[in-house]
Amino acid sequence: LSPQAENVLDEIEERGVDFLRLQFTDILGTPKNVSIPAEQAEKAFEEGIYFDGSSINGFVRIQESDMRLEPDPSTFAVLPWRNSEKVTSARLICDVHDTTTGEPFTGDPRLVLQDAIDRASEMGYTVNVAPEPEFFLFEEDENGNATTTTHDSGGYFDLAPKDLAQDVRGDIIYGLQEMGFEVEASHHEVAEGQHEINFTYDDALSTADNVVTFRSVVRAIAAEHDLHATFMPKPIPRINGSGMHTHISLFTDDGDNAFHDGSDEFDLSDTAKQFLAGVLEHAPALAAVTNPTVNSYKRLVPGYEAPVYVAWSDVNRSALIRKPAARVPAASRIEARFPDPSCNPYLGFAALIHAGLDGIENDLDCPDPVRENIYEFDEEKREEYGIETLPSNLGEAVDALEADEVVMDALGDHISEKFVEAKRQEFEEYLVEVSEWEIDRYLEKF
Ligand code: GLN
Ligand code: MG
Ligand code: MG
Ligand code: MG
Repeated sequence: LSPQAENVLDEIEERGVDFLRLQFTDILGTPKNVSIPAEQAEKAFEEGIYFDGSSINGFVRIQESDMRLEPDPSTFAVLPWRNSEKVTSARLICDVHDTTTGEPFTGDPRLVLQDAIDRASEMGYTVNVAPEPEFFLFEEDENGNATTTTHDSGGYFDLAPKDLAQDVRGDIIYGLQEMGFEVEASHHEVAEGQHEINFTYDDALSTADNVVTFRSVVRAIAAEHDLHATFMPKPIPRINGSGMHTHISLFTDDGDNAFHDGSDEFDLSDTAKQFLAGVLEHAPALAAVTNPTVNSYKRLVPGYEAPVYVAWSDVNRSALIRKPAARVPAASRIEARFPDPSCNPYLGFAALIHAGLDGIENDLDCPDPVRENIYEFDEEKREEYGIETLPSNLGEAVDALEADEVVMDALGDHISEKFVEAKRQEFEEYLVEVSEWEIDRYLEKF
């Protein structure tokens, strides 16, 4: 066993862990887990744990369904909640292997991100990522089902008593800290019932693991307060939706920030500008991955601090990418503002990284920043500035994805095929539905 795995075994002993949850995600980013008694931990590290992958969304065909989970010892964390029987559980995030070939399984989203990280590393870079996931807290009804009644009527940075969620957010933060998160800030977001908790940046893989963990901790602790936390991008029309702004920077092997250039007007190096240009170039296809639900496109409309137009800015927040002010050289980064928290973070980050690296490799030209409010531009002005629009629905996004070789390659053959298939089906199911809006508008009129 590796020294790291040995340490985990010691900790299991010391902390009285009863069960281990071996976790991975399906293509849609939904966490899955196999639970094993703690006594099986050593065997799990030595041989992996076998499971039937045929019933996991988008994993494999039935006839070749045996998969093996290999726990990553660096991801060991004791879960901050106990179930009714007072057992202590810990989780380990796993890589998935194909038992027929013995190779890492190409349908594992974590592998897709690892491949993107490896490409960056071959080019001499480490990728750092920090997300800003937003979410809503809703009341539950008498039966414990989620409603869309917001938990409070607070607004941006409000304080108690309007911000009723302070206690809930506090408990969530304690839970996250217990699991090893370094929480930097938390605040009430713009919409009623909407919140944001920020945690420290990390390498791209750790951050993607963290996002998956974050979503389950938030939901579990909200549930302890009889509230439903949702990362659905736009649960309520005509007010702000929930985004997951994603801050990215590349560091060199010497530990320098490759995005920083103090002599540049925007404190962005050529590398940063090429990376940024790559993300802009592939934005319509990226959206299918970073904004993967029908509902995602209800958020990407003008007027709610979410981007619609493919442009970047150092000052305004209607752009797709913003260059935030950096206190120190190490903090120079770009902020992609289009991703939302319904995405699979492994795939989302992988796609963003490949798009950016593509920009570097092809020495793409970075357009000038747009410093005006783009929401107020008419079509003519957008044409004059050469500003494209993001896909306006999931169907268009999937079309853009299929047409974009770089982003399709980023996902790999297995996942790109399954992803396109699943998302087309999701969009087609949506198209045949008749919405409440249509009933209200037409039922009595015609
Ligand atoms: N909720 C906004 C979005 O959809 C972001 C608001 C903010 O963080 N300033 O992206
Ligand atoms: Mg924020
Ligand atoms: Mg925010
Ligand atoms: Mg932000």
